[in-house]
Amino acid sequence: MIWKMVAVNLLIIVLITAHAGEPVRSGQFPIVDAHGHIGASFNVTKIVEYMDKNGVSKQIVMARAYPGKDDSDLPGDDQLALKLAETYPGRFYPLVGMQRPLLTGAHKWTAPDAAVEALIRQTESKLASGKFFGIGEFIVRHWAYSPGRHAEQDNPIYSELMRRFSVLAAKYDVPMVIRYPTLVADFSKLIAENHSTRYVWAHNCGCSKAEVIRSLLSRFPNLFCDLGGMTNVTTGYGSGFPRKEEFTSLIERSGVLFPEMKSLYEEFPDRFMVGTDVAHAPSMRFYEGRIRRFRELLEQLSPETRTKIAEQNALRIFKLAR
Ligand SMILES: [Zn+2]
Repeated sequence: MIWKMVAVNLLIIVLITAHAGEPVRSGQFPIVDAHGHIGASFNVTKIVEYMDKNGVSKQIVMARAYPGKDDSDLPGDDQLALKLAETYPGRFYPLVGMQRPLLTGAHKWTAPDAAVEALIRQTESKLASGKFFGIGEFIVRHWAYSPGRHAEQDNPIYSELMRRFSVLAAKYDVPMVIRYPTLVADFSKLIAENHSTRYVWAHNCGCSKAEVIRSLLSRFPNLFCDLGGMTNVTTGYGSGFPRKEEFTSLIERSGVLFPEMKSLYEEFPDRFMVGTDVAHAPSMRFYEGRIRRFRELLEQLSPETRTKIAEQNALRIFKLAR
């Protein structure tokens, strides 16, 4: 009887391991891509092919509802992200997307109008469904790399909108992904007032300098960072595209981590995640190069830190195992 139970338990362990292992090429450590996007023009078959080929077991997806430059880059919505997750169970995890034309304009953040109120209500019902794993990406600051009224943005992070969403995120125990708050003091105020909310500060903590990141991570245990698009292999944030500012910093040069960033990752191994951040369908051609570069960078870290940043932190922060 005992042996029978042991055998059953072993079988369960084998099944769980097989699932957790997912299509990862032998010799490659698994990666969870914690910062991905989806739009209607994305070639889903290609995304899955690239993930399989490059040992990416799972991807966080955020719908980009901003229009692209033409029909080759149509916008998406939460339904599309959900459909992707349902089509490939265990591979894609949707967040309630916040890259929306509706949120363009600082006044929408300070004094939500009826349409924004409706968005907050819809977000709550999506989170209540249990099918979404977070909220974001909130475009606090965006530097224009294309024409159009949504291209350049500078929105207040310490605002009614962000306070409301912070409460919602804590209630449903999901993180918020936030992009580039330039006013770190205001961001600190928001984090301090919402200590039960998990904040993911995208793009190596807003492309900030190591000492700024260290200071915030030391003060706030509910703050995390993704390295979305921070590889310096293509035109992307990791190369300083579309521009650099006084407060920004890169993380690597020619596949070598800057020493101050490497120390930071070793000092806070539980706080960082990787992400490809392909936000436009034509840029999907960069996917493999970015993952390959992340592997090179992660190889420079201790094995324990590498496993956490490559995979474990994303599973824990987004609660992907639920
Ligand atoms: Zn992004």
